[in-house]
Amino acid sequence: MTIAENIAKVRENIAAACARAGRDPAEITLIAVSKTHPPQAVQAAMTVGVQHFGENRVEEASTKIPNVNASVPTAPIWHMIGHVQSRKAKLVVPLFDVVHSVDSIKLAEKFSALAQENDKKLPILLEINISGEAAKEGIPATDWSHDARVKATVWQIVREIVALPGLEVRGLMTMAPFYDDAEQTRPVFADLAALRAALSNDLNIALPVLSMGMTNDYEVAIEEGATWVRIGRAIFGERA
Ligand SMILES: *Cc1c(COP(=O)(O)O)cnc(C)c1O
Repeated sequence: MTIAENIAKVRENIAAACARAGRDPAEITLIAVSKTHPPQAVQAAMTVGVQHFGENRVEEASTKIPNVNASVPTAPIWHMIGHVQSRKAKLVVPLFDVVHSVDSIKLAEKFSALAQENDKKLPILLEINISGEAAKEGIPATDWSHDARVKATVWQIVREIVALPGLEVRGLMTMAPFYDDAEQTRPVFADLAALRAALSNDLNIALPVLSMGMTNDYEVAIEEGATWVRIGRAIFGERA
């Protein structure tokens, strides 16, 4: 299968998941995760209309992104989806259009200051650790709806980040644990959607974006309200 054929199949699956959930496919943004793949793979996806790409490592992105941007008439929209160390934040700001992985006040403050230096507002998502897996990045929010202390901490972190002048907080992002049966990810996605609704309501902020769902589980994520899906392997094949 070619990259174009893979994208056609993914779009079909997105449309089918939307139909099952009574949603409009226009609500879903497909982010092709091009990490480890060369600029040619990004260009191939662009020829069939993909405009959003995700990368997770600053080093790789700092050569790939300028390379791709110089080779196409209109640069795509670049999403930083990987963990960012504070000291690398200054490399991220000029390269990426949106950062999905802001998971601490410290990192948010750093991004806000850098964006202000560049006279821009950086669109970001707050990465949330819903599942409680020790290895996962993200603001810990397991059991937020039952545990008042967890909830108070999450609310305080979000309040402080939303108040930063250089950021535009668009929504929430999560990674579900890997299960062979994608159905098992459903409660994780449903919980992130509920957290988004509660935060938006309590803090009176618009949080339109829910970035959730990868190759293994994007259809379930869409059924549970995802607006951005981050798909690598189903488009570009297995990574080396
Ligand atoms: C690699 C990655 C993806 C894409 O995963 P696939 O299984 O290849 O679809 C999505 N989100 C994040 C944060 C990633 O690091």
